[in-house]
Amino acid sequence: MHKLAVSAFALLVLAACAAPIPAFNAGTACEAESFTVIDGYAGARRGRCAVLAPNHVRLTILPEDDGYINPSPWYSFKLVPSAASEARVTLRYIGGKHRYIPKTSVDGLAWVPLDDENVRIRKKETHVDIELTLDDRAVWVSAQELVTPAIYDVWNRRTAANSDAELLLLGHSVGGQPIHCLVSNPTSKEVLFLVGRQHPPEVSGAFALFAFTETLLADTELANRFRERFQIISIPLLNPDGVLGGNWRHNLGGTDLNRDWGVFEQPETKLVAALLDQLDDSGEQLRVFLDFHSTDRNLFYTQDDTVPTEPAAFMRTLFANATPRLENYTFSDEAGPGKNPAVAKNYIYRRYGIPASTYEVGDESDRNAARAAAVVFAEELMKLMLEMPAPAPR
Ligand SMILES: [Zn+2]
Repeated sequence: MHKLAVSAFALLVLAACAAPIPAFNAGTACEAESFTVIDGYAGARRGRCAVLAPNHVRLTILPEDDGYINPSPWYSFKLVPSAASEARVTLRYIGGKHRYIPKTSVDGLAWVPLDDENVRIRKKETHVDIELTLDDRAVWVSAQELVTPAIYDVWNRRTAANSDAELLLLGHSVGGQPIHCLVSNPTSKEVLFLVGRQHPPEVSGAFALFAFTETLLADTELANRFRERFQIISIPLLNPDGVLGGNWRHNLGGTDLNRDWGVFEQPETKLVAALLDQLDDSGEQLRVFLDFHSTDRNLFYTQDDTVPTEPAAFMRTLFANATPRLENYTFSDEAGPGKNPAVAKNYIYRRYGIPASTYEVGDESDRNAARAAAVVFAEELMKLMLEMPAPAPR
């Protein structure tokens, strides 16, 4: 079932070079007889390496810091063969259980999930044995596709060049990486606001954000009409340091950014806070907010009837309209009161009373289906927003 090559970035990456290149501690290359394990690239996480046999190493995969980390154990490393062999890599997780099906790539762009028979999970999911047939090519092995800041950089610039959106620098992360947003129709007072990649491993959500944003910015009759009325602000990558470091959850400040809204202690969330204040000051009104993530299945976290939105039942109507058009994409609407005020969607709801949703794509959901679904959700969202009455001026 996982035989699909899951990347569509071949076109993007040819020019992926504009962001400053971060310095990595490449660690010590771990040499077995038939291959060497290396890290020291954007998104790598390899941990301590023990050579157990000429073709077998064990990697101890640890989270980025001692704070609470939700169980999303990211790993990414590269095997450089010295001879064709059957390679075996054991991952031993500390502080987490196996979650992501290993994906391999020989070019860093096209990824193929390993077959079940090559992945043996044991010891209550704290260990996994990965078996790979190596030829003379180096192979990346990664929890998810490597969608790094360099790829965002290319996607951002290409998307801005192909649309009426401007690419703006919002500011910088803890580690000094740029954080950008795409903005279309900045003179409109009604805003659709999108955020992505607060959590580094959540790559399937990134694919949805790309397709969703591209649909909003497309040269179609619907999208053009939408952009005549609405402003779009999309921040595709809020946690570049976490992505570069191969973090499980946090930013470089040891913080879960999606537990920092309203608190706004981290530079990344402070940038969002400043942007929201600026929108408020200039009389611009958020109408809908979406925050893109990944979890074990496709779902949306939304407001239930105890926390009514303006307009009422907006997301429920959106799902009813979108569902008949979806193929190979099932999802659930996890409506609730949204108790934690430091989660983005809950913060935005409390501040504005608008439909604010966490858009979660399954970790292993078919990438093409997730992209196609994002197109449908974006189209139905535009139709529904165009039906919204204009807001009362404040
Ligand atoms: Zn998340």
